Amino acid sequence: MREHDVVIVGGGLAGCRAALEIKRTDPTLDVALIAKTHPIRSHSVAAQGGMAATLKNVDADDTWEAHAFDTVKGSDYLADQDAVEILTREAPDVVIDLEHMGVLFSRLPDGRIAQRAFGGHSHRRTCYAADKTGHAILHELVNNLRRNGVRIYEEWYVMQLILEDAQAKGVVMFNILDTNLEVLRAKAVMFATGGYGRAFNTTSNDYASTGDGLAMSAVAGVPLEDMEFVQFHPTGLYPVGVLISEAVRGEGAYLINSEGDRFMATYAPSKMELAPRDITSRAITREIRAGRGIHLDGSAGGPFVYLDLRHMGQEKIMSRVPFCWEEAHRLLGIDAVHQPMPVRPTIHYSMGGIPVNTDGRVRSGADGLVEGFFAAGEASCVSVHGANRLGSNSLLECVVYGKRTGAAIAQYIQNRKLPDINEQSYLNAAYSQITALFNQSGTIRIGQLRQAFQDCMTDYCGVFRSDELMREGLNQLQQLQQQYQQIYLDDKGNCWNTEITEALELRNLMLVGEIILTSALNRQESRGAHCREDYPERDDTNFLKHTLAYYSPAGIDLQYKPVSITLFEPKERKY
Ligand SMILES: Cc1cc2nc3c(=O)[nH]c(=O)nc-3n(C[C@H](O)[C@H](O)[C@H](O)COP(=O)(O)OP(=O)(O)OC[C@H]3O[C@@H](n4cnc5c(N)ncnc54)[C@H](O)[C@@H]3O)c2cc1C
Repeated sequence: MREHDVVIVGGGLAGCRAALEIKRTDPTLDVALIAKTHPIRSHSVAAQGGMAATLKNVDADDTWEAHAFDTVKGSDYLADQDAVEILTREAPDVVIDLEHMGVLFSRLPDGRIAQRAFGGHSHRRTCYAADKTGHAILHELVNNLRRNGVRIYEEWYVMQLILEDAQAKGVVMFNILDTNLEVLRAKAVMFATGGYGRAFNTTSNDYASTGDGLAMSAVAGVPLEDMEFVQFHPTGLYPVGVLISEAVRGEGAYLINSEGDRFMATYAPSKMELAPRDITSRAITREIRAGRGIHLDGSAGGPFVYLDLRHMGQEKIMSRVPFCWEEAHRLLGIDAVHQPMPVRPTIHYSMGGIPVNTDGRVRSGADGLVEGFFAAGEASCVSVHGANRLGSNSLLECVVYGKRTGAAIAQYIQNRKLPDINEQSYLNAAYSQITALFNQSGTIRIGQLRQAFQDCMTDYCGVFRSDELMREGLNQLQQLQQQYQQIYLDDKGNCWNTEITEALELRNLMLVGEIILTSALNRQESRGAHCREDYPERDDTNFLKHTLAYYSPAGIDLQYKPVSITLFEPKERKY
């Protein structure tokens, strides 16, 4: 059995930042980081627009309180305000720390870090590296991991969290290269496994965003918090769904319907294109539904609207958002200097996740904690985003809470012993599970079932939801889950068998989908990204609370937990 003091699953911003903090706190600790991709291919690398922090380099009157207020208002008052206070107060320091590590941020003419406007933020506070911010940060973090002696297991797939007697003890994993199974035990286990965008058919997320960490935690008995809050990003490039960063609107681009109108004037007159994402996504969907969308031949009534950059001019486009220009050019042959881009909402971000306290310790319920188990980043829910995340607050969350969680882990494991694990029983169970998949003589291919599932989630749990729609979605999902027993693998070999990982990922995705739908069905109000046509108003009397969903094969049990309100009383949210 492999052993380390700490095992971190996830090589994105949150996992890497935590690993680094543990090594900085105590260089003698033995830290392992596992990722099913190479760490540098984690979805964090694709982050474009930037990271918010009140450095005051552009807007001198910005304050952490203003950042906190924008975040809480953006969250539709569901964010835990103690966690938001930490996020926004610590933001400037973590940005400076990244810069000292070597991250190359874009500059103002006087050499200070540049900052741009972003949706829902009242000041220009988003720090960026052109529109490749995640790339700049992740590369530097991974370099620092190597420098600090973190043991990296790259392209290993974690298939089970070992959680016994209310304590996390390790993981079961296999090397994707040869499907070799191993058990790894540790004094502390951290999940930083990212989101689940692949539960839907159109997403900005990478192929690895399959909610593995969420599903493994749920199966181990840990509740998942606020899973009904799924973020649509307003500007996914049509038809592929890849992201056109909000930075493009931050730099001045317009949203235009088939009549040539900047229709955001109807929905958010004071913020226009820089309204928060939930509001902008609904506005675009409403325009399309009302027949003011556009077809590829330019006629009205089609499935997308235009994102128009032309007035910004070539120099600004090429210096501030070159990657977005390149995406549209490479994927659609569109030159955004001269032509508008076709866009529509795309699944982007998971506001919910594994519930944690502000030290990254995983909660077992409204009050208790799970021993030895930590989480941070998109897989977790500390709840700084509540019902709707503001752009550029997620990279910030990964770094602030990755760092805090790393520091907390370094403390936690002092004077602790490695846990006892019955290695053989875990290996046997994992071996049986994989052999069963190999031997399954079904008729359905993995890709076929995944597509049907993704269509089901998109059709029945999208931008607009209702009781009737979601019940039908759950019905269909149950049938699809039964079909999982009938999938078959073409590849029965042990060498780089991607079908094995895809089969396990699909099982995880379906479980996460069931939790999203069930949590959404029970929230009978509209708040942030969760918009119910049958309950169009926010209902603070009954639903100003977090959902905790407990999974068991027999069904999902929903409980609720209060919101921490320390700074701002909830009021109506208008832009
Ligand atoms: C296109 C795009 C642009 C974005 N732009 C911005 C932006 O400008 N600003 C902003 O604030 N936010 C942005 N976001 C959101 C932000 O990038 C993510 O929320 C954040 O990077 C998530 O980081 P993470 O560390 O939590 O997880 P990720 O970076 O997703 O990493 C997850 C890690 O877990 C590993 N993993 C998962 N499952 C397993 C398993 N079973 N076994 C082993 N390893 C596993 C993966 O290999 C990976 O290393 C963007 C997101 C997208 C998709």
